[in-house]
Amino acid sequence: MSEALGAGMEEPSDRDGAFPRLSDEQRERFRKLGEVRAVRPGDVLFREGDPGGYDFFVVESGAVAVVQGYGHENRVIAIHGAHRFLGELNLLTGSPPLLTAVVRDAGEVLQVPVSQLRTIVSSDEALSNLILRAFLARRSIMIDLGAGVKVVGSRYSRDTRRLREFLARNRMPYQWMDLEDDEEADKLLHALGIEAGETPVVVGGAGVLRNPSNGELAAMLGLGSRGEPPAMCDLVIVGGGPAGLAAALYGASEGLDTQAIDAVAFGGQASTSARIENYLGFPTGISGSELAERAQLQARRLGARLVVPAQAVGLVEADGHYAIEIEGGDAINGRTVIVATGAQYRRLDLPDIERYEGAGVYYAATQSEAQTCAADPVVIVGGGNSAGQAAMFLSQHASSCRLLIRGGDLAKSMSRYLVDEIERREQVEVLVHSEIVELRGEDALEAVVVADPSTGQRTELEAKALFVFIGASPHTGWLSGHVAMDEHCFVLTGRDVQGADLALFGDEQPFFLETSRPGIFAVGDVHSGSIKRVASAVGEGSMAVRLVHQHLARR
Ligand SMILES: Cc1cc2nc3c(=O)[nH]c(=O)nc-3n(C[C@H](O)[C@H](O)[C@H](O)COP(=O)(O)OP(=O)(O)OC[C@H]3O[C@@H](n4cnc5c(N)ncnc54)[C@H](O)[C@@H]3O)c2cc1C
Repeated sequence: MSEALGAGMEEPSDRDGAFPRLSDEQRERFRKLGEVRAVRPGDVLFREGDPGGYDFFVVESGAVAVVQGYGHENRVIAIHGAHRFLGELNLLTGSPPLLTAVVRDAGEVLQVPVSQLRTIVSSDEALSNLILRAFLARRSIMIDLGAGVKVVGSRYSRDTRRLREFLARNRMPYQWMDLEDDEEADKLLHALGIEAGETPVVVGGAGVLRNPSNGELAAMLGLGSRGEPPAMCDLVIVGGGPAGLAAALYGASEGLDTQAIDAVAFGGQASTSARIENYLGFPTGISGSELAERAQLQARRLGARLVVPAQAVGLVEADGHYAIEIEGGDAINGRTVIVATGAQYRRLDLPDIERYEGAGVYYAATQSEAQTCAADPVVIVGGGNSAGQAAMFLSQHASSCRLLIRGGDLAKSMSRYLVDEIERREQVEVLVHSEIVELRGEDALEAVVVADPSTGQRTELEAKALFVFIGASPHTGWLSGHVAMDEHCFVLTGRDVQGADLALFGDEQPFFLETSRPGIFAVGDVHSGSIKRVASAVGEGSMAVRLVHQHLARR
């Protein structure tokens, strides 16, 4: 049966550098590190879900099929012919394979242990770029194809949503089978002997999980670092957005024993941005998820341990170090702590809002968003200064600009100078007593429906872009009572720590980015007065590591 897998199927084209062929010279390099062996149709090179990870294979001759659900579903995802190589991102992270590789046409393969692949990756820039680009592109293709585990669950189930979000944020390919209208979902459950009441279930090469916790699912997929942390780390970083990832990278590369944890996924808010246009070094922009994936690989390669999911729920100070308490009962000890838990931009409570994020719904109004909606009608929601500044800025680019507030008086929440400017600016129309109740549009936003809460009257407004500025709340509940915070619960650092909050410093002052507790630093969106940009978060993450060294030297 397996001989026929992928029979007659062509190799995919080298779309986005996903399936390059290695040159004679490049294969020669690998031949020195690996072994060439003959293979026959049906030979399995690696198997979906195998906890031991897998080796790097180059096809010398013949062809190999990459298959999802080998032995039952037998869905052929790709064929690799002569001089192409197998594998994807998880080869570099040591996680179990998501697919099975089965020889279709007899020939020879070159098998290279993954440790040797890493040697090449760190010494040959051209080859390393070729492989990394292919692995990143393959991960995107697999996500598009849903070529990974299956999630069977109802669209109305909160746990189904939780599992899907966890997989999506961690950039894991998966196929969702909705119990509500997918007959295949029923058939699969029946075949597995699982009742609908036991869903959601996750079905993968490593087995079946019934309504797993995020931690159980992460263990199945081999996400994050494995093994116990040492009894004491030099540096524990809480939060793995751009700020935390930068701190992890610099901490590890500058000789600190560094452990970073994230409650859900590394990458943070930045990884939800379809395209980051303003990050230095990427003239045509970079997708947030690719930036996050690259940063994770880099931080790991330089020795940082990245653990996910691990939500900090408390902090204890003991014997001159800190213990970060993790949900579920574990604790991680560190001589120093960098808090990088970010902030959550408040979203409008509307069904489907995620569908439009990046496709009409924005949380920042920079030049790039302005270009996206140039000469289009835009709507801004929010009554604070950020909404007012956005209105002033966007009105120079958009065909029309409406600013919506719930209350009846803009001056109640916005600075007077801005209110005056808005009143003078003809292009800005302020709509009071207005609440957005619906978003409309096929592939992208086309209109919003606005209701007057007191009368219920609804109006449709044409809008190619909706800018949401209704505030952000920091993830600092777990730190409450331990470090000084501003009135909105953002962490105070450096010179902003004043008065009685300086008590623990004696004659000294906190370093820039240091909180009211010596040795605990706060970086990125979580600290009071932050810039709320990827670049500034990364800059602060790296700066804090330098200050960690200074703190350790001061003790
Ligand atoms: C849709 C969108 C688009 C954006 N586009 C751009 C852009 O184009 N350019 C730009 O410069 N900026 C952009 N931003 C802003 C930018 O993403 C943020 O300023 C940046 O991500 C902040 O980084 P951070 O590391 O401080 O926090 P975050 O990115 O918020 O990361 C914080 C991390 O901490 C984790 N965490 C929270 N609480 C806990 C806990 N208790 N325990 C463990 N982990 C925890 C979270 O899971 C998260 O991963 C955008 C933001 C959004 C939402």
